Amino acid sequence: MLKRHERYFRIGLLPHIWCPGCGHGVITNALVWAIDAARLDQDRTVIVSGIGCSSRATGYLNFDTLHTTHGRALAFATGLKLARPELSVVVIAGDGDLAAIGGNHLIHAARRNIDITTVCYNNSIYGMTGGQCSPLTPAGRVASTAPYGNVDRAFDMCELVKAAGATYVARSTTYHARQLVRLLTSALRHRGFAFVEVASPCPTYYGRQNGFKSAVDMLEFYRQQSVSAEVAAGMSAAERAGRLIIGELHRSDAPEFVSEYERLRATARGEGGGHGSL
Ligand code: SF4
Ligand code: MG
Repeated sequence: MLKRHERYFRIGLLPHIWCPGCGHGVITNALVWAIDAARLDQDRTVIVSGIGCSSRATGYLNFDTLHTTHGRALAFATGLKLARPELSVVVIAGDGDLAAIGGNHLIHAARRNIDITTVCYNNSIYGMTGGQCSPLTPAGRVASTAPYGNVDRAFDMCELVKAAGATYVARSTTYHARQLVRLLTSALRHRGFAFVEVASPCPTYYGRQNGFKSAVDMLEFYRQQSVSAEVAAGMSAAERAGRLIIGELHRSDAPEFVSEYERLRATARGEGGGHGSL
């Protein structure tokens, strides 16, 4: 019997391109464990990515995969899910890809509550292109495009997608690998738009430019800065500032887009009755 990594990874394409200490392998491994725990059918699960260090994950995953264009992973994934609703569709994307170039695709996927699980590999920087600021670079942090410190405030991606209509929202870090597997499993089982943000160290650009001595130093930072959603609920806004609030942050029910669209098509065909003609 194949071991888990032999089953879910394209072993012949390893070793991967990620730098030593990069968190992206931890997230990709957690995703595979979660897919296994959620008992998704490997032959009916498609993983879609955009462009960037994190998006290279699709190359190593032994599923049907799409490595698409920058910021457009959710647009491709939406088309795929509409054409083949029976498939489980997962999107992998970096913070720049999802929050900048693909920002509109993200908020509209959340608004539609389309049944796609999106995993944001958040290293707070553009890694592959040389350490530029992304919309998730915290204010004051240094990047190759902000040598004196970033003046912009970072998005809170979890609040953004929740406000836009996502029905499952969670956050974790690569330090909290077991929690991450549990949250990803819940996201994969959820019917509707599920979003999981994962803080992931980029020691090569973000870490070096911001005074972290090593990748371990960055993990230690995650450990110190993280606070569970339950504890955070009792904290003041000032106490929560700058903290990583982790765990399941939001869960709700709303009509799912593909089901609604199928219902509309049935109405247009004169089936199902009760909705009148279009
Ligand atoms: Fe990871 Fe950063 Fe290296 Fe990209 S540049 S592989 S994000 S450590
Ligand atoms: Mg990034």
